[in-house]
Amino acid sequence: MNVDKARPWFKVCYRWGQTNLTELDPIRYDRDWWRQHWRNTRVQGVIVNAGGIVAYYPSALELQHRAIHLGDRDLFGEIAEDAREEGLAVVARMDSNRADERFYLEHPDWFTVDQEGIPYRAGDLFIACIFSPYYDTFLPAVLEEVIERYQPEGFADNSWSGLQRDRICYCVNCRRKFRDHAGADLPTTHDWDDPVYRNWIQWNYARRIEVWDHNNATTRRHGGEHCLWVGMNAGDILAQGKHFRDYKAIAERAELIFLDSQYRHPGMGFQRNGEAGAQLHDMLGWDKLIPESMAMYGAGQPSFRVASKSPGDARLWALDGFSGGIQPWWHHIGAYHEDRRQYRTAEPLFRWHEQNEQYLLDRKPAATVGVVWSQENADFYGRHDPETRVRMPWNGMNDALIRARISYVPVHADNIAATVSRLELTALVLPNVGRLTDTQCDAIREFVRNGGGLVATGETSLYDADGLPRRDFGLADVLGVHATRTHHGADNDERAAWDQWSQHTYLRIAPERRRWVYGPATGDEPDDDTPRHPVFDGFEETDIIPFGGRIEVVRPEEGVTTPLTLIPPFPIYPPETSWMRHPSSNVPGLVLREADSSGRVAYLAVDLDRTFGRGRLPDHATILANLVRWTTGTHQPMQIDGPGFVHCTPYWQQHRMVIHLVNLTGHETGHAPVADYFPAGPLSIRLTGVAARSARLLVAGQEVPVKNDDGGLSVEILQIMDHEVLVIETM
Ligand SMILES: [Zn+2]
Repeated sequence: MNVDKARPWFKVCYRWGQTNLTELDPIRYDRDWWRQHWRNTRVQGVIVNAGGIVAYYPSALELQHRAIHLGDRDLFGEIAEDAREEGLAVVARMDSNRADERFYLEHPDWFTVDQEGIPYRAGDLFIACIFSPYYDTFLPAVLEEVIERYQPEGFADNSWSGLQRDRICYCVNCRRKFRDHAGADLPTTHDWDDPVYRNWIQWNYARRIEVWDHNNATTRRHGGEHCLWVGMNAGDILAQGKHFRDYKAIAERAELIFLDSQYRHPGMGFQRNGEAGAQLHDMLGWDKLIPESMAMYGAGQPSFRVASKSPGDARLWALDGFSGGIQPWWHHIGAYHEDRRQYRTAEPLFRWHEQNEQYLLDRKPAATVGVVWSQENADFYGRHDPETRVRMPWNGMNDALIRARISYVPVHADNIAATVSRLELTALVLPNVGRLTDTQCDAIREFVRNGGGLVATGETSLYDADGLPRRDFGLADVLGVHATRTHHGADNDERAAWDQWSQHTYLRIAPERRRWVYGPATGDEPDDDTPRHPVFDGFEETDIIPFGGRIEVVRPEEGVTTPLTLIPPFPIYPPETSWMRHPSSNVPGLVLREADSSGRVAYLAVDLDRTFGRGRLPDHATILANLVRWTTGTHQPMQIDGPGFVHCTPYWQQHRMVIHLVNLTGHETGHAPVADYFPAGPLSIRLTGVAARSARLLVAGQEVPVKNDDGGLSVEILQIMDHEVLVIETM
């Protein structure tokens, strides 16, 4: 690796490879074969197992377990030497939170224990405590030794963040340090209402950041300013919370993120990968890199460590990642495989990436909508059920936007003002963001006061910084509603109730166009021509919408409109009983507020974001998208028409627009492995306020006709198989 102080490795390595060594590999690692594979796949850096749980070099640290079949070999050193000869960056891989019994017996007080003092274990191994000298002295000694002997460019650490949140460690270090910190004993249960438990959560988060800084101080001291230690992080905020990894704090101090998000998780679509890239770039900056470990093996449920992943799965995951500013990194478990098909997946992806890298870096999102999130919301509001409270509304809302080809960026609730001004966002969306601090509420209030549109759902702003209920919405004045602290769609079993009502429910659109027939005609039938609010575009032939979710009961202020109300539940079975006992109610499902100078505000008391995330009813997605369009003043700079679930992500890159179109048709949910692509198109793309000199398709590899007119430009794309990237050189 050439050393260039202005362009260090973490700025210039766009493609990575990792042969994740097993303990058997020292007797079967084929150096020439892997060197050729590096060349074939155009990687610029490799991640090579060094130490931690298993060492692949002859360490002088007596307690560091050597790979069983290492013998006298220095496999890490040999691979590092090969990589250097190939001109590649070498990142030493650590896996650092467990040790064998030999180590445990030497330092029992460095390891996690339960309330009875029984060690927490993972298989045969003992889990080290992050508050112990294992992290303060032993791991830094490993880092120092690896640097002294091999001078790697940096480190990637796999399981660096210690015991997960679902278990509390009661070792002597934890007992003493927590008492010093909090003046209280360690919590005994996971009670979010207990301030001591919440304090324990924050204390754990802070320790991980301390470890991050401590490791980086060590690597920089011994390896120079560019020798970074980088802990691996998940693409999923809920997973980050379970591991006490504060993404915002990490992003603020990281030069790059090594993303450990290897595959599409069950029930989710590939679109989550591009979204994660955008979410991280919002915090990290769009000028930094996010290489992502991508499994070439059968990761997921079920997992097959040594068999090839369906190539379509690996491809769509990578392609959607490219659309979110993620760089590829192939990952195999073990150095020898009888299923050789897995070696074929990376090459075409990586070569395409190399050929087109100039269009894939240093870009600025051209999205106009921001969807607000925070990790604290997932923790302190999500509590024991972040899946239902946080993830499902998030996925449902964002999938509704993708389906409507409305481009959005995730915006951290602490960064609202900065991101809004940097990207010139015209609307913010708050999908059941229950926990908002007063400062975050102020930033949203200011945004709306300055003309920004807002869509908020469910319990948004009903909880304070600690996740404790407020008397009223923190944003009551902005939303035009007040809390009653009651809701429908629940019984004693809160969780089950959020999933399904025992009876079924609907929503009524006002004004109705068809008379409810519950008695003899009275002659006052509604007028079919009565105009309706534009948020009901597409619903001309119905007065009702199926619901089946949870409704927050609110008291609207004067001057707002409530064009959607609850139809109370009525039986499903037997069919003879399935008629509306109460065809209408005054319970508002949607509250719209338009003030003179402020932006338009939609408060959705019904959880259509969550119900779309769960049940995928197109009606729910259509209303969500209509609401966002209405709050932006119906002005969307990009409009894309045509069939297919296509994840469309536009960027500005100096005087050029780059638009990713990832065809996820048939693969936007579920977890069946990808066996076929379903072509999407033809697509008509219309951009307003832009004129083009030329347009080019990076996948088809050809120029495409572009029509300029007074208002903007139009391009047609006939068909997309897995993805296309449209590059428009603007005037
Ligand atoms: Zn401990």
